[in-house]
Amino acid sequence: EPSSDADAPVRATDNDAALARLSAMKKRYFTDPYISALVTRAHLQSPRPPLINIGTYLRGYGIDELVEDWFRRAGDSKVQIVSMGAGSDTRFWRLATGPHGNRLAKYIELDFPDITSRKAMTIRKSQLLSAVLGSPDNVAIGSGGTALWSPVYNLLPVDLRSPPSTSLGPILAAPSDPLLSPTLPTLLLFECVLAYIVPASSDALIQWFAEYMSPEKGVLGSIVYEMFALGDPFGRVMVSNLKSRNVSLPGVDPYPDFRSLPHRFLRLGFTAAHAVTLRDMRREFIGNEELERISRIEMLDEVEELELVLNHYAISWGVKIPVSGTESADWS
Ligand code: SAM
Repeated sequence: EPSSDADAPVRATDNDAALARLSAMKKRYFTDPYISALVTRAHLQSPRPPLINIGTYLRGYGIDELVEDWFRRAGDSKVQIVSMGAGSDTRFWRLATGPHGNRLAKYIELDFPDITSRKAMTIRKSQLLSAVLGSPDNVAIGSGGTALWSPVYNLLPVDLRSPPSTSLGPILAAPSDPLLSPTLPTLLLFECVLAYIVPASSDALIQWFAEYMSPEKGVLGSIVYEMFALGDPFGRVMVSNLKSRNVSLPGVDPYPDFRSLPHRFLRLGFTAAHAVTLRDMRREFIGNEELERISRIEMLDEVEELELVLNHYAISWGVKIPVSGTESADWS
């Protein structure tokens, strides 16, 4: 189903995210061998401001750490990851070629059809990206070019605002041969996507996964990266920036304050939940040596401004363990 044009500015935010990642990679905040392949004319793209580079670095660092932790906690079990609004994200390729590569049972990316068809095409044309998917015999493109299936990596078109029982159900949970197993540990990623969706719809999404997982075996984890407190003075500036680019926000702030970040998970029946702002992550979680390395990359004239911005972005995470689970409920 083609998504309406009103969504074009929302889809365009993927381009911002990809350009920011490319920029921070070029400045050597981190390494990412795959981002250049996902950005058109990557070599011609100019760097983004230091504040964007640092924010991109911090959120990537935090989410990478949590994903790493998720693998550790899953013991030696295979795991599944579902990335909502994945856009041009490279995490699948980085994970698949990393130390946990052989533990990925499924990695599923969901986004609007315009985004998935472009990404499917890019993957097909790139030797670097397609090599990681395995033998070409096992890779299929379908649904008019908007979907790509392979043994582990799957890229599927879906409007995340639609009722999950009719949108996700048929593509992930076909009774005969479900793409997503209800018994393997499953991690949901929402990186910069929930702000565009009304809370009722995103609650329904998370709830769908929680109900799909087996009551005895299905461990569910979820990581959200999002801006929050959009009602306070600085938050209002961020909202008006987005509005000036015609990005329609749902008009309901999913996370009016810091407390509401972990609270969402607890409200939806998760066993434990935590959150950290990017400001506190930079202050408390990045080692001194690493912090020094980062601060040498680019001069920042305004640490206060940086902290103000970083204080409006947070990573939150939750885990829902089966009633009979032996797993530790505390994912911190
Ligand atoms: N997760 C990627 C990252 O962090 O680099 C991309 C983030 S980008 C800011 C937001 C993404 O969410 C875009 O790719 C957009 O198309 C997708 N998105 C927003 N609303 C969506 C919806 N209702 N259904 C599917 N995808 C959506």
